[in-house]
Amino acid sequence: MKITQISCSLLSYPLPAALHPSWAPGRTFHHTTCTLIRVRTDEGLEGIGAGPDVGLTGVYTIADLVTPYLIGKDPFAVEQISPILRHAARDGSYPWGVEMALCDLIGKACGQPVYRLWGGYQTTLPAYVSLAELHDADRRIEELLALREIGFRAAKLRLRRPTVAEDIAFVARVRRGLPADFSLMADANQAHVMPSPGPHNFWSYSDALVAARAMQDLGLLWLEEPLPRYDLKQLSALAAAVDLPIAGGELNIGLHEYKRLIDEDCYDIIQADAAFSEGIFQLRKVAALAELAYKKFIPHTWSNGIGLAANLHLAASLPNCPWFEFPLDPPAWTDEARDFMLSQPFEISSQGTITVSDLPGLGIVLDEAAVTRYTTHAWQSQGQG
Ligand SMILES: [Mg+2]
Repeated sequence: MKITQISCSLLSYPLPAALHPSWAPGRTFHHTTCTLIRVRTDEGLEGIGAGPDVGLTGVYTIADLVTPYLIGKDPFAVEQISPILRHAARDGSYPWGVEMALCDLIGKACGQPVYRLWGGYQTTLPAYVSLAELHDADRRIEELLALREIGFRAAKLRLRRPTVAEDIAFVARVRRGLPADFSLMADANQAHVMPSPGPHNFWSYSDALVAARAMQDLGLLWLEEPLPRYDLKQLSALAAAVDLPIAGGELNIGLHEYKRLIDEDCYDIIQADAAFSEGIFQLRKVAALAELAYKKFIPHTWSNGIGLAANLHLAASLPNCPWFEFPLDPPAWTDEARDFMLSQPFEISSQGTITVSDLPGLGIVLDEAAVTRYTTHAWQSQGQG
């Protein structure tokens, strides 16, 4: 089988309400965009993948830095193609949707869902609702009680208020306002902010230690990204200083960075995301390193419905992935907004679980009418599709 054509479209979907995520302080989002990638072969099969919200840079990366070196290659040769994607990532933006599309193609050619090709460990995982915004405690309690009615049994809160004391008071208040069987995690997003007006106040090591001890006392499941991404020494010191698991790694780049994070015990939970780093097949190597170090691997999934599907197959194939991140924060970030390009949005069960598709490949079925309607820029290579 040979790759004969690659296409790449930029999709932009209007959010049902303005989104103010904690990781872009002072910035308002009115749209969500996604780089949709299709890889076609001489046998008539099509693989689907997607990149995150990076605008035309995503299309340029696929068109100029990836496609010329993939036409004619065997889509099963993921190990040969991964270095091409790494080179493209260096000069362009995230090309990993191509790797998702290759895995989708391989699954379709074999008639098997991707997670089963890799030894299928689990089909259903507990999902935690991953919130985006900094709401006040009373509003958040009300929203979480409504999400609990849908089935959620766990939620990840955002921290990034002006002071650590305010973050701790918020979590304590929310904890008291929810039933004891509802679990909480907290994400400080101290490793990264998106381009935004700010204020971009970052925690010191002592802020992170105070916060981690407080989260531990409040019974949280983990604290995420409490320190800068490359402050490996202090991450390691913090992880050793508290019993609370410390999580992170969502935007680290390359297998070597994950090896250091694991070897140097920076995090107890590694949260790589196939849309932002390496792709799903390569991230299995990181998950294996984590497993050998008795650490968890729980992928980050905040991009779009296709990125979520790809990370779900990865999670379903792993023995050390006990939770799945489910991005949702209505009224701005809804199931429909996240999955607008899919024929059916992902939903959780009344027990708060998510189940991986048993269709061949990634199990993605596009809503072609929605894809057409929300495409703002389309590119495709010459040659046969
Ligand atoms: Mg995070």
